[in-house]
Amino acid sequence: MPFKTRLLPALCVALLTVVNSSMPAGAWQVQTRSKLNPQIEKIVGEISAENIEAIVRKLVSFGTRHTFSNQEDPVRGIGAARRWIHEEFERYSRESGGRLQVVDDEFIQEPSRRVPQPVKVVNVVATLPGSQPESAERFYVVSGHYDSICSPFSDTTCDAPGASDDASGTAAVMEMARVMSKYRFDATIVFMAVAGEEQGLLGSTHWAEEARKANRNIGAMFTNDIIGNTIGGNGVRDNARVRLFSEGVPSNETAREAQLRQSVGGENDSPSRQLARYIREVGERYLNNFDVTLVFRRDRFGRGGDHIPFVQRGYPAVRFTEPNEDFTRQHQRIREENGIKYGDVVEMVDFGYIAQVARVNAAAMASLALAPSAPAGVGFKTARQQYDTVIAWKPNPEPDVAGYRILWRETWQPFWQSSVEVANVTEHTLKGLSKDDYFFAVQSVDKDGNTSVPVFVNTSLGQGQPPRPNQQ
Ligand SMILES: [Zn+2]
Repeated sequence: MPFKTRLLPALCVALLTVVNSSMPAGAWQVQTRSKLNPQIEKIVGEISAENIEAIVRKLVSFGTRHTFSNQEDPVRGIGAARRWIHEEFERYSRESGGRLQVVDDEFIQEPSRRVPQPVKVVNVVATLPGSQPESAERFYVVSGHYDSICSPFSDTTCDAPGASDDASGTAAVMEMARVMSKYRFDATIVFMAVAGEEQGLLGSTHWAEEARKANRNIGAMFTNDIIGNTIGGNGVRDNARVRLFSEGVPSNETAREAQLRQSVGGENDSPSRQLARYIREVGERYLNNFDVTLVFRRDRFGRGGDHIPFVQRGYPAVRFTEPNEDFTRQHQRIREENGIKYGDVVEMVDFGYIAQVARVNAAAMASLALAPSAPAGVGFKTARQQYDTVIAWKPNPEPDVAGYRILWRETWQPFWQSSVEVANVTEHTLKGLSKDDYFFAVQSVDKDGNTSVPVFVNTSLGQGQPPRPNQQ
C-alpha cells in the first residue's frame, strides 16, 4: 500500500497546520525556520581568515608546544606560547572596553600513564560575562587545545608545529573571543585555550571538574580539534563542511535514566545530540554553502577530545573536526619517508576553512548566549493511551521570554521535522499526534526570536514515576 503510507503523514501535517493556526491557547504560527538575528550576522561577518592565519603562524613559531617542553624559555616551548595567548586575550579585552576577564587556570598534574613526572598545566581562559542578571550564571564554553606533540610522544624537544592539531582550533577560539567580546550576550561565554590534551585531556578535565564541584550551570560546550586541513589523506578535498560529533546516550547516564530510556526511547536524544542538531540548524542558517555534518558518535572511532570530560560530568558537549583527516600530519615528527611527507605543518592549513568553522561556532554560541535558558520541568501531561499529546513545562525565569516552540519528528528521523510556536504559556496540546509515533522537544524563545537548545520530552508529569519498562 505505498500510496496510503505516503499520503497519511501528509494529511496529518495538513490537519495539524489547520488545528494549530486556529488554536486560541496562544499558538501563533507553524514555523519551520527561524529568522536571522542582525547581531549574529555581524559577528559571522567579522570573523577574519587573515587574523586566523596570523594566530596559527604565531603558534607554530614556538617550535613545540609539548606540555613537557620548556616553560621558561621566552621564545620556544609551551610557556612562551601560553604567555602570548594570554597577552592576545588581554589585547582583545582592551579593544572591547575591558569586558573579557583573562585568567590562567593553573594546576600541577600528578604522574599518570602519559605523565612521567609532575607537570604544571595551564589553561588560558577568557570569560565574557553575561549582561542579563537572570542569565549571567549560565555558561557556554568553547575550547581548542594549544599543546602539540610529535613522535615519539616522549620526545619533548622535537619540532611539533601542531598546525591543524590544534593551532587551528585555538585560533578559531581566539578569533571568536576577539570578535564576540565587542557584543553583549544575556549569558556568559568562556573562551578556553587548554593544554595537556595529548597527555589525556588534562586541562579540560581540570576545568570541567572544578565547574562540576562548583555546580556551575554549563548550557553547552564545544571543542574544536583538528579543523585546519581540507585535503584528506584519502586524497579527497572538501572545504565545504565540518563534522560535528555528539553522543546519543549520555556518558553519565544513571541506571534509572537507562531504565527510562529503555522504556520510552531516546537513545538518539541525549542533551549533546540536541545541541548538535541545534548547531547544525543555526550554522547552516547563517552560512551559505557550508554544511555541518552530524556524526552520531561521541568522537571518531576509539578516539577522544576535550568535550569528553564535560559529557562525563553531565554537561552537553560536542566536537568539531575537519571532514577528511590526514593521519600522516598528526602527532608526527617532521620528515620525508618513501616519498611521503609527515608532520603537522602550517603549509597544509586552509585558513579560509578554519574561518568557516569558526563562523559556525560563533553563530551557534551567540545564538545560545542570547537565548533564554532551556525550559525546565518538561513532560507529557497525559497518561499512556491517549490520541492527542499534551506537553507541559515550568515558566522560564528570564524577563525577555516571549514563548516556546514545540518540535517533533517521526521516531526514525534524524532531525526535527515540524514545529509550532506558542505564546508565554506552560502547556500545549498537539491534536492528532501520538507520543507513540513521534518524538517531541520544547525550546524557549525570546522577544527577538532567539531560541534555546531543545529539551527532549521523555517523562510523564504528575505520575511520580517514569513508565515501567515492558508494560503493554
Ligand atoms: Zn587534538
